[in-house]
Amino acid sequence: MATYKLFFLPGDGIGQEVMKEVEKIAAWTQSVGICSFEIERGLVGGSAYDAHGKAISDSDMELAMASDAVIFGAVGGPKWDSVPYDVRPEAGLLRLRKDLGLFANLRPAICYPALADASSLKREIVEGLDIMIVRELTGGVYFGEPKQIIDLGNGQKRGIDTQVYDTYEIERIGRVAFELARKRGNKVTSSEKRNVMKSGVLWNEVITALHKREFADVQLEHQLADALGMQLVRWPKQFDVIVTDNLFGDMLSDVASMLTGSLGMLPSASLGEVDPKTGKRKSMYEPVHGSAPDIAGKGLANPIAMIASFAMALRYSFGLGDAADRIEKAIADVLDQGLRTADIKGDAKETISTTQMGDAILAQLQKGA
Ligand code: NAD
Repeated sequence: MATYKLFFLPGDGIGQEVMKEVEKIAAWTQSVGICSFEIERGLVGGSAYDAHGKAISDSDMELAMASDAVIFGAVGGPKWDSVPYDVRPEAGLLRLRKDLGLFANLRPAICYPALADASSLKREIVEGLDIMIVRELTGGVYFGEPKQIIDLGNGQKRGIDTQVYDTYEIERIGRVAFELARKRGNKVTSSEKRNVMKSGVLWNEVITALHKREFADVQLEHQLADALGMQLVRWPKQFDVIVTDNLFGDMLSDVASMLTGSLGMLPSASLGEVDPKTGKRKSMYEPVHGSAPDIAGKGLANPIAMIASFAMALRYSFGLGDAADRIEKAIADVLDQGLRTADIKGDAKETISTTQMGDAILAQLQKGA
């Protein structure tokens, strides 16, 4: 039985509550002999700042670097609103992404049939939806230089951000998208604004060449990012894998998140380069939501996004797709039974707590085990 190193970083607020539920699912994974884990636990965000004045300590960063997968809860909260900028809770998350070289952000948007009415779109548009948005995470306009505000001296200022992509950055994110598509619906939609942006022209060229060279068996289409935004809410089921840059990916994945009903349902994975020596890649799995200070400590948080993030770790870091399927099916079954946390209450008469939802998913897994 293979052993994998997991590093649990619960963080702050509901991050700590939902991580407890993942611990149960990890224990189940081991108990039925799927694999075994060596688990380390650390501090990140406000809780790390309280303990040692940093958003993540160097020793915890070392553990993250040595792990096979980081399982991350959420960071932040009003308690740390006035701490210095470089040690604010989010700095811990950004350091993890940067030091682990996590350039590919995978955000699935899955609409469980039982929750189709929780979406702001009509049931027939979203029911059974299963798309994957692959966002480039470490380049583009969020990082390009120059990035500054210049005083023009005439009462005017100029704000500058630079959108910049090199060939290798586009190729490696494209490769992630094509490889994923091969295991799903075999279709990639690449998105940029080549009609008005040079970086979009290059993006389009590089993805097209990569497709021709290495992935001709996968269907490829190109859509301008504005048109794709429109198509996402018009007929999202036309998509399988969408690959796009950091800025468009940020916006389009948030649009897609609304298709599925609640933030509490959305997992994500962030992946680094494959190490040619070991064949492994650095990775971090986290729910899309934040620390939700408004409900923290009340047992109201939905743990499904966190548990589904763990399922993604099994699938993408350890090649345990069957185990991931079982966890995702247990989630779907529990929803079919009508069990709901407050955020996905819909017309349900009663809601259950974070712990009860975790226990229900675990019980469903144990039934099928
Ligand atoms: P949020 O995601 O924490 O909460 C937004 C809304 O969704 C809130 O009403 C919250 O109660 C609800 N919600 C979120 N997750 C839920 C869940 N699992 N179950 C039920 N309801 C849920 O975003 P916010 O309120 O804008 O930010 C709160 C804090 O979290 C801030 O400090 C922010 O910086 C931080 N944040 C962290 C991350 C991260 O750690 N990756 C992401 C986003 C925000």
